[in-house]
Amino acid sequence: MEPSNSSDNVTLETIVALAKRRGFIFPGSEIYGGLAGTFDYGPMGAVLKDNIKNLWWRMFVDMRDDMYRLDAAILMNPKAWEASGHVSGFSDPLVECSNCKKRFRADQLENPEKCPSCGKEHTFGEVRQFNMMFATKAGSTEDESATVYLRPETAGGIFVNFKNVVDSMHPKLPFGIAQIGKAFRNEIAPRDFIFRLRELEQMEIEYFVKESGWKDAFSELQALMHEFAKALGLSEVHELEVEKADLAHYSERTIDFEFDYPFGRKELWGLAYRGDFDLKAHQEASGAKLEYLDEELKEKFIPHVIEPSLGVDRTLLAVLLSAYREDDLGGEKRSYLALPPAIAPVKAMVAPLLKNKPELVAKAREVRAVLQKVHPAIAWDDNGNIGKRYRRQDEIGTPFCITIDFDTLGENPDLLDTVTLRHRDSGEQERVSIAEAAERIRTSL
Ligand code: ATP
Repeated sequence: MEPSNSSDNVTLETIVALAKRRGFIFPGSEIYGGLAGTFDYGPMGAVLKDNIKNLWWRMFVDMRDDMYRLDAAILMNPKAWEASGHVSGFSDPLVECSNCKKRFRADQLENPEKCPSCGKEHTFGEVRQFNMMFATKAGSTEDESATVYLRPETAGGIFVNFKNVVDSMHPKLPFGIAQIGKAFRNEIAPRDFIFRLRELEQMEIEYFVKESGWKDAFSELQALMHEFAKALGLSEVHELEVEKADLAHYSERTIDFEFDYPFGRKELWGLAYRGDFDLKAHQEASGAKLEYLDEELKEKFIPHVIEPSLGVDRTLLAVLLSAYREDDLGGEKRSYLALPPAIAPVKAMVAPLLKNKPELVAKAREVRAVLQKVHPAIAWDDNGNIGKRYRRQDEIGTPFCITIDFDTLGENPDLLDTVTLRHRDSGEQERVSIAEAAERIRTSL
């Protein structure tokens, strides 16, 4: 059977089950019956998520000399969210069914006359605007406490630190400020596993430009997003040019990057040209000067901005869907994740052929230590028979499995210090030196 790929035919249930079984993703607060819109990343998922974020840092920030990192607070002065328009406008249209009391996003109903939950017709009342920001109180006593919001996007922290970054780092325009962090949205209908969450994570950049330079910067970031999709091994990503009529009033161009999830083609990431709307709004509301001084032209102005906004969770789901394969190996059906080695949670697994032979175990430990100089994420797995170990590693996407046997110890002198290297995708095995195994791992990353 040819390996079958993937997002075309894999069901969401298959991915949810694999994610649970292999320690990637668990329902949030599961032993208490869960909490809608929250998921917890397990031992494998937490590493995969970090690897995706690290690849983003590398490609969008570290490899360039025009990007600056930021790690801003989740809680911000509520005036910032008034200025940005979130207090008045960050809302979704909500309808409630008068029969079953379930709530829905009015713009996502397939049939606005019929409740998708209880099936009754004409039970929806008026459409209300529902603000999606989570509010809480800051301060220990009721009278000194003020309403604050959990940030609904990471971008806000970037704009309010524009002046701090300019004053401390003296960047030359164009430059970007990049941030990864949690954001919170009280989604009316969280759903589709980790696609629509109430607690999510974003990777965002505000890339500041002179107005005349926005088109070039936009194209460059657009190309970089496609490169990132490729490096993650995503199957096709589609661009949706947002129609002029649907654009926010300050935006001249927005592209949605869409992915074919099992529940339809949906937004994965966004790229928006936002003009000078945000800095202008914060300058007006705060009174701080958020201008940039062009030293050469002796000119002061508010920069325009391009915003690539990427959801970590939606990316991770697209990665799992794209990597999932099923095939027949040696007459047995198996499933595996063809993850790019750079983001695989485990880079290789090392095991002694038999775990009750101390000399094999000692040698295997030694080999693992050699390989860990290449990358620390080298797993040790001597549990169960070797076929079971391989299946476990295949399902978490480990590119190589390395087995130490008596030939490694020199039982056949020609094979001294060689190991069996098994390839995840083909299941093929070859005999290579320990040094060669290390080199294979190094060059795969
Ligand atoms: P949607 O239309 O699907 O609600 P959006 O247009 O509101 O998304 P943005 O505000 O542009 O999304 O947010 C930027 C990115 O953050 C999205 O492209 C997505 O990757 C991610 N994101 C937004 N909302 C959620 C959510 N509820 N759960 C998970 N990721 C999200």
